[in-house]
Amino acid sequence: MSQVEAVELSRYYGHVCALDKLNLRVRDGELLVIVGPSGCGKTTLLRLVAGLDSPDEGWVQIGDDNVNGVAPDKRRVAMVFQSYALYPHMSVRKNIAFPLQNEGLPKNEIKSRVELAASQLDIVARLERYPAQLSGGERQRVALARAIVRQPRVFLFDEPLSSLDAGLRRIARAELRRYQRRLGVTTLLVTHDQQDALSLGDRIAVMSEGRIRQIGTSQELYQRPADTFVATFLGSPPMNLIEKDNCIIGFRPEDFVPAVSNSEVGNSLIIPVHVQRVEYLGDHRRVYGKVNELRGEAEVVATLHATHKIRPRENETVEFCVPFEALNWFNRHTRLRMQATAFTHEGMTVS
Ligand code: ATP
Repeated sequence: MSQVEAVELSRYYGHVCALDKLNLRVRDGELLVIVGPSGCGKTTLLRLVAGLDSPDEGWVQIGDDNVNGVAPDKRRVAMVFQSYALYPHMSVRKNIAFPLQNEGLPKNEIKSRVELAASQLDIVARLERYPAQLSGGERQRVALARAIVRQPRVFLFDEPLSSLDAGLRRIARAELRRYQRRLGVTTLLVTHDQQDALSLGDRIAVMSEGRIRQIGTSQELYQRPADTFVATFLGSPPMNLIEKDNCIIGFRPEDFVPAVSNSEVGNSLIIPVHVQRVEYLGDHRRVYGKVNELRGEAEVVATLHATHKIRPRENETVEFCVPFEALNWFNRHTRLRMQATAFTHEGMTVS
């Protein structure tokens, strides 16, 4: 059992509260992505799990053990760094063997562990090469092999893909996902990139100001955000938010399209949009506009497929619609999600 749990974890740096009674459970073998804006406490959380720093309150549990006060090298946690930090003057074999030599393991044990890790990560044919002779993806796998030989219970990744350009990043994401599944090691990965988060994790935890705002699958977080912070943090462009009575209504740009037929009107919320700007982006268009809301005007954006029958133009007012089932309701004061209990054409009842 190597589930990881943070219980009421707090860490202060002077007056700065980096973690604020944070609670989190990473399931055995799962890849959990922690995502949040700069300064929200992501790295602090990883450092506390690794044992590189100590909490002021609360504790970290790995498997059945409370590891507060346990030294980093006794926790069986492997931190895999962004730069992959391979030794350039050592072969792949020596790079992978290095942590085991430091532990003073017998030679034949080292050899068999290195070869097992290399075969799990498909780099047996690269064992005699040097890091400079490897592709970026292979280097990532060598770094993983070097971590896995120590038989860790947990992998920690801090922004592992941030130095890669968009194309490589997509490939590296898929590889990381595949090998993490194959190895089955419980993994916590920190990123500020929502694409990494949405595509990599079994589950995602969205953090802000030292707390977890919501934890769930990509789909749960994207479709049913727990508050307006999560609603606007995930998604590009973010969810549209309009104030109405005591509520904030949220809807995704791709669910917001010009009303074409009467059948749509019966099952949708109709909102007139004063179109400000249209962007042509190949297979789709983005329409930026303004709508009336409780105390003035709100800015909205719609993403329309290129084949959509209606093509709004700048300075026109066009009736857009959102299907009722695509609407999200938030309390205007707490900004937390509300449950919509009934939809009618005239109005909506929310609890
Ligand atoms: P980023 O995405 O920019 O790396 P982060 O979410 O990882 O940010 P942390 O590095 O965990 O955030 O920092 C959380 C807060 O704690 C920030 O306000 C940061 O300035 C503060 N902090 C972190 N480490 C220290 C330190 N050693 N001394 C003082 N303040 C610190």
